[in-house]
Amino acid sequence: QVVAEKPVAAPAPLESRVAISSRERVIFPGDGLTKGDLADYYLAVAPILLPWLAGRPVSLVRCPQGRGRACFFQKHDAGSFGEHVHHVDVREKDGSIEPYLHVDDADGIMACVQMGTIEFHGWGSLVADIEKPDRLVFDLDPDEGLDWADVRKAAADLKERLAELGLTSWPMLSGGKGVHVVVPLAPKAEWPEAKSFCERFARALAEAEPDRFTANLKKVHRKGRIFIDYLRNQRGSTAVLPYVVRAREGAPVAAPVGWSELRDIDGPGHFTLRDRAALIERATGRALAGWGLADQTLPEI
Ligand code: ATP
Ligand code: MN
Ligand code: MN
Repeated sequence: QVVAEKPVAAPAPLESRVAISSRERVIFPGDGLTKGDLADYYLAVAPILLPWLAGRPVSLVRCPQGRGRACFFQKHDAGSFGEHVHHVDVREKDGSIEPYLHVDDADGIMACVQMGTIEFHGWGSLVADIEKPDRLVFDLDPDEGLDWADVRKAAADLKERLAELGLTSWPMLSGGKGVHVVVPLAPKAEWPEAKSFCERFARALAEAEPDRFTANLKKVHRKGRIFIDYLRNQRGSTAVLPYVVRAREGAPVAAPVGWSELRDIDGPGHFTLRDRAALIERATGRALAGWGLADQTLPEI
């Protein structure tokens, strides 16, 4: 069984043999945060990040010169990360085979940080069972200027609609502008079925409440609405993983929260790199008990 393997007691701190160079280099200008601060954050949260990161193909947002300067999204292993970062060969649509990255331990995380990584984004499936998603993400993308309260309400409404279909879900602050509604799955159905379910679910919401929601990626459809980005749920797509620092002003963190907490949280960037002690404590606390864990499968709709 894939679920219920998460520690309930506070996990032990981890160590890493990977050396971090240029620890004093400021990579969050304006926040005064350095590469050393980022490395210290990631090593400290490794025990609560790894349950979400390990064994999963990942893409990296690398900013070797710091946030906002020449960042790039890296999907494939160019062979430059050393022994602690692994790859898995994945067949692409065109039939070619590409090496996707995966990171399974603290050394792997630190090797990525050493190479200028700020963000870790994961596939919704595991290397061991790559065609079968173990997690869906409904990424709520509000139009510019929409109130945070509207986003919170939208997330809660998605939770209700999902519950009507027998699916338990949890919210995660993206650290950017929105919320991700995360639905864990036992890896039974394959990607096309999962995508189809997510697309039909998002379209049904948009049709029921066209003033609030759109399921259309095009920005013209977003005016004053929230785009329910169901497209995270297709083979090869990624979503930012829990406890990842965003390469944005203030170094916000993608943070799991409880549904009742969400009602009082002031914004999607509520937690930042500086809150690592609180994030670690929360991870094993009451508000997040069972977060992201459920043994459930796609309903028939
Ligand atoms: P926000 O709340 O600001 O929308 P977000 O992480 O949800 O933050 P999105 O732009 O909605 O950002 O993207 C959702 C996910 O899609 C990201 O977390 C990322 O994994 C993936 N993604 C975004 N941009 C790219 C890109 N250029 N290339 C590949 N994947 C991307
Ligand atoms: Mn988003
Ligand atoms: Mn999106």
